[in-house]
Amino acid sequence: MHMVNERMLALGNEPSAIRELFAYGLTRKAEIGADKVFDFSLGNPSVPAPAAVRSAIADALGEPACALHGYTPAQGTPAVRQAVAHSIQRRFGCEASPDRIYMTAGAAAGLAIALSAVTHPGDEVLVVAPYFPEYKVFIESAGCTCVEVPARANDFQLDVPAIAAAVTPRTSALIIDSPNNPTGAVYGRAALEELAAALRQKEAELGTRIYLISDEPYREIVYGAEVPWVPAVYARTIVCYSYSKSLSLPGERIGWLYAADQMGAEESADVYAAICGAGRALGFVCAPALFQRVVERCVDEPSDVAAYAANRELLTKGLSELGYEYVEPQGAFYLWVRALEPDAEAFAERAKKHELLLVPSNSFGVEGWIRIGYCVDASVIENSMPAFKALAEEYVQ
Ligand code: PLP
Repeated sequence: MHMVNERMLALGNEPSAIRELFAYGLTRKAEIGADKVFDFSLGNPSVPAPAAVRSAIADALGEPACALHGYTPAQGTPAVRQAVAHSIQRRFGCEASPDRIYMTAGAAAGLAIALSAVTHPGDEVLVVAPYFPEYKVFIESAGCTCVEVPARANDFQLDVPAIAAAVTPRTSALIIDSPNNPTGAVYGRAALEELAAALRQKEAELGTRIYLISDEPYREIVYGAEVPWVPAVYARTIVCYSYSKSLSLPGERIGWLYAADQMGAEESADVYAAICGAGRALGFVCAPALFQRVVERCVDEPSDVAAYAANRELLTKGLSELGYEYVEPQGAFYLWVRALEPDAEAFAERAKKHELLLVPSNSFGVEGWIRIGYCVDASVIENSMPAFKALAEEYVQ
């Protein structure tokens, strides 16, 4: 008998824990009122898209429909790739060729393309745990094995010796994500230089190539920290960028991949061609045309992080007064908090009884923590404090 693909069947039947919690929140809000449920589950930006983006959309709609809504080249229009490359040159003082930029439907498509482009089935891809759960899905879809390397225990920074120790002759890529979802950690220049040196040493030892896939949807969402440009530190880098968070456009599906020029003309041309090939093979060609036009106009539009910064203050102050332990976030809009019992799933279930929707760390590949997404209205944080207090009191002996 003909069966559908078992792996896809399982993926389809097991929606992500985060989405499940979000769906539960919607039902619960309908039952008891939206203001009574404290939904910290999703990373959906609470800040509206900038006015410049909204007017770029309106202006674009005045253009001839066939040109505006028609196919673009598979890798994106020359104009948007030029705009992105110039922005990289200006902001990071680095060489960047438009011929190495591939426009994508968000970071999700970018990651799937990058992984297909630089791995072979049977390879190993390293991730730093805790990690964005879809990494494992994308890695396994490329026929590779997801190898989890724990972050440093106290501050969730890169544990470079552990990463080096996890590299084998089959390791073809490492995914990093800074500012980090779920911990809010930002990897500084010294940490990235240490990582780069370790990867180069492993490549030399094993005679292999290790690509660094730098997933950067939160690059602009920082609270004072510097986010170094990774290709300047490690040549064999593919940057995976998205406007979902920086310009609050997650539903519009727009971002880009950049095969670093620093790899050298020949290798970067090959990596880029493989990216074009993977985009073709996966059906990720011609990213949304209207939003290519918008990015062309708004490439240097600053992100509005003031509301996230205020929420971060409110939440960390409130939770530390209640005795919760957390990692001080340097970026993104997530707070990583130690669960009050070893089983994070049991803790999140107990939190639900107080109408607090927190994502247990098991979703991210580690035990004992929960993630609070603070991309919410400030009133949700303010009103949730009695619930956090009551939850903590349950654990007082
Ligand atoms: N990478 C990380 C770390 C994310 O948190 C997300 C979305 O939340 C993505 C990738 C996917 O983002 P996009 O909307 O650009 O596909």
